[in-house]
Amino acid sequence: MTRPFNFSPGPAVLPDEVLQQAASEMLDWHGSGMSVMEMSHRGKEFISIAEQAEADLREILAIPANYKVLFMQGGAIAENAIVPMNLSRGGRADYVVTGSWSVKSAKEARKYCEVHVSATNEADHHTTLPAYGSWKLSDNAAYVHVCSNETIHGVEMHELPDLAALGSKAPLVIDASSHICSRTVDWSRVGLAYAGAQKNIGPSGLTLVIVREDLIGHALPITPSAFDYKIVADNGSMYNTPPTYPWYLAGLVFQWIKRQREGDLTGLAAIEARNITKAKLLYDYIDASGFYVNKVAANCRSRMNVPFFLPKDELNDAFLAGAKAAGLVQLKGHKSVGGMRASIYNPMPVAGVQALVAYMKDFAASHG
Ligand code: PMP
Repeated sequence: MTRPFNFSPGPAVLPDEVLQQAASEMLDWHGSGMSVMEMSHRGKEFISIAEQAEADLREILAIPANYKVLFMQGGAIAENAIVPMNLSRGGRADYVVTGSWSVKSAKEARKYCEVHVSATNEADHHTTLPAYGSWKLSDNAAYVHVCSNETIHGVEMHELPDLAALGSKAPLVIDASSHICSRTVDWSRVGLAYAGAQKNIGPSGLTLVIVREDLIGHALPITPSAFDYKIVADNGSMYNTPPTYPWYLAGLVFQWIKRQREGDLTGLAAIEARNITKAKLLYDYIDASGFYVNKVAANCRSRMNVPFFLPKDELNDAFLAGAKAAGLVQLKGHKSVGGMRASIYNPMPVAGVQALVAYMKDFAASHG
């Protein structure tokens, strides 16, 4: 069966191979006579799935040994509360605002700590990245929070800030939900990364937290036990029943990432090279088209989420209907921004972006 190219922002496209493998193992995982959904999380079968997934993720992202990998629930929205509960010690935290998701993070954190907004691109309608040197960082912040890829506005940090070089002693916390596993991470600059799984990793219901060991163990007394990073870490993410099936599917996706090849490149390097190619194809066409517009500054255009506008909103419905007929689905932009958005996560092949560009050309030619 050929499926349409799926540009959903999330829950998003998964590799065919992964879905086929999951389907073939649905009733009987590796001769166990059980679906992964039916297994005790404490049984040897699921423990082997869980350990393999963590080992593969550590390998893909080159996560240093002094970082814990936690498999949690609640999504990135819950982490907006869980991070300040665990890291703020009730003091002050710096937040950098670059789009809707970091606006939400800062708002939620105000319930648990003093929030200082160190920089914002609000005046540019979230289309720029405030220069790192301009950030007004506090002397006493418990952490500095950024959203390293703004899914709605399409603003990505292509290099993470080096907080020490900017004069801050605080650890950097990144909401990496919509670009985790799309590129390498410089862990020397990161204290904690969190990500909902439903973009590049698997189905919704699983939240990854990758945290430097020294940052855990200081949760506020009000922190629910299931959300206390120390308790979660000490129990191997099994203090409460973890989202076992999404954990398993994430593991299949990690193995898929490891199998990728692009020229001489393998694994995440191959994925990253392909992501660069895909994004360049789309942005180059949009810029040259004289019809479509992407408003994000060139130095921070997201490789994963590409919002774009047609010359007139009245054309949007016709564009989406024609796209669907051409086998290109879920292109509608977020309601707060309007227009279109193509999310081109890891499993989107180059051919999918080529098909999108070909359709956009035809549409422009007949509506220009
Ligand atoms: N942060 C970012 C960057 C996101 O893209 C999303 C989901 N689109 C969220 C947070 C919220 O995730 P969830 O709904 O899974 O909590």
